[in-house]
Amino acid sequence: MVAVVPPARPRKLAKVPFVELADGRLQGVVSSGSDVERVYVSSLTASTHAYHCSTNNNRPCGGLRGAPCKHLEALADEAVLQYGVERVVRYLRVADSEGVRNGRTLLERMETKHEPTPAAVVFSRFLRHLAYLELPDSTTALPELHWFPATGAVR
Ligand SMILES: [Zn+2]
Repeated sequence: MVAVVPPARPRKLAKVPFVELADGRLQGVVSSGSDVERVYVSSLTASTHAYHCSTNNNRPCGGLRGAPCKHLEALADEAVLQYGVERVVRYLRVADSEGVRNGRTLLERMETKHEPTPAAVVFSRFLRHLAYLELPDSTTALPELHWFPATGAVR
């Protein structure tokens, strides 16, 4: 068993360990709310506002029922926290950003549509991100690593 250490910072890293604006998408990794061994890869494409959410093994998210799931909302929440509303809105090319202040209001301003995208690219970027954080001489616990519940999560 790996000891779970409380996050050092108040940001919800345990919930959304990875978020980035890259490849023309808002994309990232969101922990499952119910199963600690599962993570979801969520993405939202700029301009077209096509979204997708699946497990890192490409199993579709059960929460996608004609609308973005709670993982996409959590991801959008974190993007707003990390990058600020202005930058997220500009990157995603949201025409009407009036009143956007969190993930939910951001998603409401877009005409989103579902379009499957492979999780592998985003997930491998996440793993590289983790490798980058693992500095050789660092003895400080990294909040980004806390979500790893046990061996087997990374292959
Ligand atoms: Zn989902």
